[in-house]
This record gives sequence, structure tokens and C-alpha cells, in this order.
Amino acid sequence: MKYECPECSRTIFNRRLDNCEFCSAAIPENLKFSDADKKQIENEHQELMKRECEIEPPLRRYVGGAF
Ligand SMILES: [Zn+2]
Repeated sequence: MKYECPECSRTIFNRRLDNCEFCSAAIPENLKFSDADKKQIENEHQELMKRECEIEPPLRRYVGGAF
């Protein structure tokens, strides 16, 4: 699905905003992040943090430096 402003047809990059960054039109609810989306992002973030904690410290330093 492509997220475009209904007013100016530009791509909505930040779906957390209430208004379009370009023309300030209100972004329809169905184009914004839903609560379920937010929860999913939170879950993914927590999974990532958990995984990062499981990596041995020297390896974590290496991974951090490589990227
Ligand atoms: Zn717009």
C-alpha cells in the first residue's frame, strides 16, 4: 500500500503526523499509524533490544562498529 496525501498526492513519509508535511492537509485516519501498528513496532523494537542483550559484549562492539 502506498501512503499518499489525498490533497497533494505526495508520499507521506511520517505517518505519525496529523497533517501533511507539504500542504498541511489532515492525514486520514486510515493512512496514519493505527494503534495496532504502533504496538507491532513496539514489539519489534523490544525483540530487537532483547536480541541485542543476548549478544556477547565483544561481538556487540564489533557489530556496532561495523555498521
Ligand atoms: Zn499534502
